[in-house]
Amino acid sequence: MNKALFETAMLYACPAWTERAKGKHWKSILSAQQSALLMVTQAYRTTSHEALQVLTGQMPLDIKLRLQASQWLISHGRTSRIPDCETEEEITESSLNQWQDRWTSSTKGRHTFKVWQDVRDRMSQRYVEVDHYVSQLCTGHGDFNAKLHEMRLKTSPTCECGEMETAEHVYPVYPKYTAARRRWMAIVDGNTRTTNYWQSAFSKRRNSEATKTYAHEIMESKRWPMRQPANELTLGPDCATSARSILGTTQ
Ligand SMILES: [Zn+2]
Repeated sequence: MNKALFETAMLYACPAWTERAKGKHWKSILSAQQSALLMVTQAYRTTSHEALQVLTGQMPLDIKLRLQASQWLISHGRTSRIPDCETEEEITESSLNQWQDRWTSSTKGRHTFKVWQDVRDRMSQRYVEVDHYVSQLCTGHGDFNAKLHEMRLKTSPTCECGEMETAEHVYPVYPKYTAARRRWMAIVDGNTRTTNYWQSAFSKRRNSEATKTYAHEIMESKRWPMRQPANELTLGPDCATSARSILGTTQ
């Protein structure tokens, strides 16, 4: 609902104002979209807008606004502002290509890129339910020691086994979750032609439901800071406040 209201407000009269919008305006628009998507997904606040857009299947708002402005112009007998595009289909295709090019060449959200390389694939998977735990699995921004260490919230970036504790380590490798992982992989591997579990995690409705269950099983058992041994809790009041702000409302 919040997202729908936000987009309705942003798309209001866009053919008129997008023509005069400048770089700083587009930057603010993307930042506003990031805030709205953070609210919807309950992802970590450090997640980039590039990753959040793909995580939710929402086109970058600057591209979407230009798309809608051109669609309005064409429907009123005027010329599209997108070069060489004169039909609604051409405008939509061009906009999706622009988003895909931006996503492929970005340096942001590279963990999410392993899950969804193709933005059209993500847009077609309307059954994917994104929440606080699924966001952590798909973005790598979450209750992982390597990420918490980066944010100076943990003293060590490593897992109990000594390797760097990232989403890549926890989901496919971490021995503590072997039983849950076997249940997940039995469904995901048996339900797809690809052997890449990141790409098959959401490729079908059943895979997506199994992945969500697996993400909940793991992340609920890892919730920070409750899992930390008392002698590892070195945070002062300022760090604790900062942790609550980064972790969002569910922690
Ligand atoms: Zn480990």
